[in-house]
Amino acid sequence: MIAGIDIGGTSSKLGLVDGDRIVARTRIPTVGHADAHAFADALAAAVRTLVGEAALTGVGIGAPNGNQHSGTIVQAPNLPWREDVPLAAMLRERLGVPCTLGNDANAAALGEWRYGAGRGIDDLLVVTLGTGLGSGLIVDGRLLLGPFGNAGELGHTMVVIDGRACTCGRAGCLEAYVSIRGMRETFRELGGDAEVLRGEGVMPIADAARAGSSEALQTFRSTARWLSVGLSNAVAITTPRRIVLFGGIARNGDLLLGPLRERFAHDLLSIYHGQVDLLLSELPEDDAGILGAAALGAH
Ligand SMILES: [Zn+2]
Repeated sequence: MIAGIDIGGTSSKLGLVDGDRIVARTRIPTVGHADAHAFADALAAAVRTLVGEAALTGVGIGAPNGNQHSGTIVQAPNLPWREDVPLAAMLRERLGVPCTLGNDANAAALGEWRYGAGRGIDDLLVVTLGTGLGSGLIVDGRLLLGPFGNAGELGHTMVVIDGRACTCGRAGCLEAYVSIRGMRETFRELGGDAEVLRGEGVMPIADAARAGSSEALQTFRSTARWLSVGLSNAVAITTPRRIVLFGGIARNGDLLLGPLRERFAHDLLSIYHGQVDLLLSELPEDDAGILGAAALGAH
């Protein structure tokens, strides 16, 4: 059995995966530990409790800013540690089994490939739409890492010349438009009702769109437009057979997917028409992080 650990900003989810099923699960807080060693102790204890008498063969960990080459979490802005945390080695020491740590977008890509909407597709692009925009790329049946461990990352490809400021310090990145923050900014720029933005995330904008707000509907259409440019460029470079969209923003039914499919059919290089599927993730949101992490551990 493989333990999958999904490290989140406030809590970390753990699950024990047997075949393609989660047979046991728990969670522990990510915050409130004295240091990273204390957190690793708590994680190891939680894994031991989950496993009980069963045989553990490996551990997979998906984390923000996870580097799969070094097994280290590299100064993730939404995690409590300012130093690099070699969590894979720390858990290997404590549990005595192989541990693989990777970034959460790559974990999502492996999760979709092994358990979800990408099963059987050896050339796959998985895009996670949330606070930021992450992606993982499987090419010729292999997760693409590159020398620095972050190949296949679309979030900071530029889609608008001299565009919006991005968290990376540059301007016009896909993530500055296609993310929770980006969509809220688009809604604001379009003059959408400020009351709507009192709610968190993109749900209030989706609700407003369903209620007929033209600014909210336009926000989804504009987001689809930018995402389509990013995806069409990615297809031109990496030629996936399937693209899977994952995360809260993607789950807004046809609000995003409808205009996205339309634009994508228009933007896609004509030689790839009919060759690239565009699908939503099939994994239940609660399971996806654990299964993705487990897929890293089994990889
Ligand atoms: Zn950027």
